[in-house]
Amino acid sequence: PLVLGIETSCDETGIGVVRGHTLLADAVASSVEEHARFGGVVPEVASRAHLEAMVPTIERACQESGIKLHDVDAIAVTSGPGLAGALLVGVAAAKALALGLDKPIYGVNHLASHVAVDQLQHGPLPEPCVAMLVSGGHSSLLKVTDITVGVDPMGATIDDAAGEAFDKVARLLGLGFPGGPVIDRTATSGSSIAIDFPRGLTARRDLERHRFDFSFSGLKTAVARWIEAKERSGEPVPVADVAASFQEAVVDVLVRKALDAASSEGIEDIVIGGGVAANSRLRVLAEERAAKLGILVRVPRPGLCTDNGAMVAALGSEMVARGRTPSALDLPADSSQPVTSVLA
Ligand code: ATP
Ligand code: MG
Ligand code: FE
Repeated sequence: PLVLGIETSCDETGIGVVRGHTLLADAVASSVEEHARFGGVVPEVASRAHLEAMVPTIERACQESGIKLHDVDAIAVTSGPGLAGALLVGVAAAKALALGLDKPIYGVNHLASHVAVDQLQHGPLPEPCVAMLVSGGHSSLLKVTDITVGVDPMGATIDDAAGEAFDKVARLLGLGFPGGPVIDRTATSGSSIAIDFPRGLTARRDLERHRFDFSFSGLKTAVARWIEAKERSGEPVPVADVAASFQEAVVDVLVRKALDAASSEGIEDIVIGGGVAANSRLRVLAEERAAKLGILVRVPRPGLCTDNGAMVAALGSEMVARGRTPSALDLPADSSQPVTSVLA
């Protein structure tokens, strides 16, 4: 099936075109620079930017893919979770297209899309698999048996998301927003073993109740304390070492728990998705440790990990291919759509 996907859950206006598992276009307009001076995404600014970018980005995706809008078999759109006003812009645009073109509409879950996107690069999703979703707002381990039906949560963060931790620590280090990419770059010139930062929820007593859960707020506090102590002593803060050691603490826990989750289920495939999956150290460490256990790790290329429209089209295409019933034309945007409800 030929599917056009629309993503507006946060600050990226993404329009993707997919045929089956083949990516034909991935047009993204980001308002990230407009938010940078506020140190985080401003919902009102994001909504307005989506409105302005929507039509030009759809046109760009059509050009890139060489398709005409009436060629598509379906329109897929992110129905949630995300910023309410931002989601509404995408959902309204999708409804207008579906109605005008007389095509079915699929309102799909942003988080499931972060997982489904991998098939554009590596072919059909291995099912069952363990998916690790690590993004700006979420950090979860999921068991996926059929991505178009639902996912079973195995664990999640009990406080901050992994991406949120990257953003907060980057701010502590004065590195700007968003923090993930800049910490990733800065860390390459630092030592990951310079500072022994805590690994959240890995102590034996924590594992009893939180074997597949994450916690990153203690780590963030530990980094803040460490920087304060350094500053009090009048010594310069070794920014690259802090970045590398912090990154190692996050990535070490993520990889350990993902592998444990797969092993516990007797599953040999792990798919990692979401913005933090773009992290270069996470990709290397996951691959390295998984190989020793005979587990296969799939991570899409960085451009497909952060928010985009191709991921929505990828999941939409799978919905059509597996004969799922489309959403109603009055489908709502659901800012707190749970990870378990894949189709709105
Ligand atoms: P959600 O998907 O939970 O709704 P979101 O859509 O805002 O949240 P994404 O766009 O998937 O999140 O990811 C953005 C997050 O990924 C930010 O927190 C950003 O710092 C982080 N990120 C991006 N690139 C990297 C990287 N190379 N290393 C670590 N983190 C990264
Ligand atoms: Mg973003
Ligand atoms: Fe996202």
